[in-house]
This record gives sequence, structure tokens and C-alpha cells, in this order.
Amino acid sequence: MTPFKIGILDGDDIGREIVPAAVRVVRAAADLHKVAIDWSQVPIGRSALDTHGSTMPDGTLETLAALDGFILGPIGHQAYPKVPGAINPHPILRKHFDLFANIRPTRSYKDIGCIYDDIDLVIVRENNEGFQPDRNVVAGSGEFRPSDEMTISVRVISRTGSRKVARAALELARSRRKKLTLVHKNTVFKLGCGMFVEECYKAAADFPDVKVDEVIVDTFAMRLVRDPQTFDTVVTTNMFGDILTDEAAGLVGGLGMAPGLCIGEGNIAMAQATHGSAPDIAGKDVANPYAMIYSTAMLLDFLGRSRKAPNAVAAAKSIERALESALSNPETRTRDIRGTAGTTAMTDAIVRALA
Ligand code: ATP
Repeated sequence: MTPFKIGILDGDDIGREIVPAAVRVVRAAADLHKVAIDWSQVPIGRSALDTHGSTMPDGTLETLAALDGFILGPIGHQAYPKVPGAINPHPILRKHFDLFANIRPTRSYKDIGCIYDDIDLVIVRENNEGFQPDRNVVAGSGEFRPSDEMTISVRVISRTGSRKVARAALELARSRRKKLTLVHKNTVFKLGCGMFVEECYKAAADFPDVKVDEVIVDTFAMRLVRDPQTFDTVVTTNMFGDILTDEAAGLVGGLGMAPGLCIGEGNIAMAQATHGSAPDIAGKDVANPYAMIYSTAMLLDFLGRSRKAPNAVAAAKSIERALESALSNPETRTRDIRGTAGTTAMTDAIVRALA
């Protein structure tokens, strides 16, 4: 089998601990299941600014385009010095590779501080339009201030963008419990959310086996706390998805438990945890590596399914089981999820559980 080509982009702060942890785990699982992977380290973020003069050095997009997928560690762009070359690479990567669907699962595990023991849902967040001013226009910013009194933020919803994310969510729902919930606010955003909902239903016509329902976003925020078990696959627009996925993480132990995979219609995918670079805990060996490791397992699963490589799917499954095993013991899980282990000790336990 031709080896998968996977890029490693450590990112900033805790990224420099949790991305190497994820690579260690995937290497071990890949060895076990005989999955060939060609890894390449690609400079990004603050360390790339120091070594290459840019947080996203020239040629990065070309290098990544030759790969099957990549792992992007969290980016702490808020702390970059205000110098040319210090840019936020996220939106550029998502936009350039048209990674329009951000798949963010939420799962509960026993004894780690989850509010319920039986949550298993996935929120698919539209990734490239919406209110986010850094990605909803090709030039300038989708936010402007006509006078000192007033700021206008533009929200972009397109038929194509809505259709594409709806189809990705429908495909995912089909592989799960065949139930998709559309989350929106078309009672107020009659045109924007209205168009999103319209396109979701049009796409759903090709998926008669998936049951589709809809919930207004504020009601959904409440129901996510009260009865999250009633949801399986959820699709929503960018900003709603951003907020709701953090809320969902809060149900299952916090941001360290919130993985994600960004996909598009092309073959390339990007593993990216939901959380940021958490500078407050960086360099202390306390960051929870779960989200980054699970995101990387999602990448492996995606590559296995799209390239018809069952051994890669099996490797991803075995990572899931190893994570479950490490999480079941306070001595092999980190302190944010009621444990006593550091990042390294939790990663060691996951690698041991794989074997
Ligand atoms: P961003 O805006 O970039 O998403 P943020 O301001 O939401 O970032 P994060 O960096 O995501 O903030 O983290 C918020 C807090 O959650 C951190 O300060 C940290 O205490 C905790 N946290 C985040 N990720 C982890 C993790 N992997 N393990 C343990 N704690 C984490």
C-alpha cells in the first residue's frame, strides 16, 4: 500500500506537547496495524516566526497540498508580536483547502466529570462563512465601523456553502444513527438561516434513510444541557457551531475532551482539536492530550475510509479503545478530568494500552 503522507504542524504553547503525543500514539497504532505513514514536520506558528520570519512560511500551502492530511496544533495568534509575518494561519488553511465542515464529536466517559454518562453526539460546524470576519470576504474584513458609534458585522450564508456542509453532515449521520438535527434561528434570520435550512432540506432529499428535524438555536443550547442524549448528528452555521461545541465540551469534562476534524470535498483533511493553545498551562506537562489524539485518530479513520484501507480504520478504532482504557484510571488521566497524570504519563498509558 502507498504510505499515507501526513504533515505535523505543532502550533503554539500546549501544541508543542500534545501534537508530539498524538504522533507517538498514531505511530504505535500504525505499527501495530501495518499502516505505512510518511510523516513530515512543517513549521508553523511562533517558532516558525523565529526560524523562518513568518508564522506561516512561504511554500507551506504547496507542501501541504502534496499530503493526504495534516495535524494542526492549536495556534496562539493573539500573543504574536505585531510584526509583518505574524499572521493567523488557521483561516488561511481552512479556506485554501476548502475545509468547510468541522466535525466535532462529544462523548462521555465514566468518572472523569461528565454531566451524563451516555452522551454520544457530533456537531458539524460550517467552517468558512458565517459571522467570522476573518474568512467571510476575499479582501478586507467582514466587520467595519462607519462611525465611532457603530460597528457592523457581516454574516455570510451561501447556498453552496450550506449545501456542502449539509451533505457532509448527512453522510456522517448515515454512518451513525441516521438522524440529523438542523440548528438555526430562521425565526429571526429569515433570509440567512432561512437559506441554510432550505439548502439542508434540499440536500436531505438524496438521503431518504436519514431522519431530519430542526431545533432553534436557543432551544438547542438549553436542550444540549437537559437532554443531550436525544441528539445524534447536528449541523449548524459557523458561529452557532463555535459556541455550541464548547458548551458540548463542558458536558463531558471540558476543552481537553473536544476533538475535531476539518474536511472538504477534496481528499485532504486536517485534524484540529477544538481548544486553543492554553498558554496558562503550556510547558508544565499538564495538558490533556485526549482531544489532539482523538482528532488524529479521526484523520486516520477518514483516510482509511476514503482510500479503502481497512487497516487504517482498525488502527483508529484501536486508538479509541486505548484512550478509553487510559481514561478509566485516575492515575493515567490528566488533572482536568479528575486524574493525577501528566501529559507524558497519560500518553505512555495510551501507548501501553495499544500494545
Ligand atoms: P481560542 O480562542 O484560541 O479557542 P480560548 O481563549 O478559548 O482559545 P483555550 O486556549 O482553548 O482558550 O483554553 C481555555 C482554557 O481551557 C485554558 O486556559 C486551559 O486552562 C483549558 N484547556 C484548554 N485546552 C486544554 C487541554 N488540552 N488540557 C487541559 N486544559 C485545557
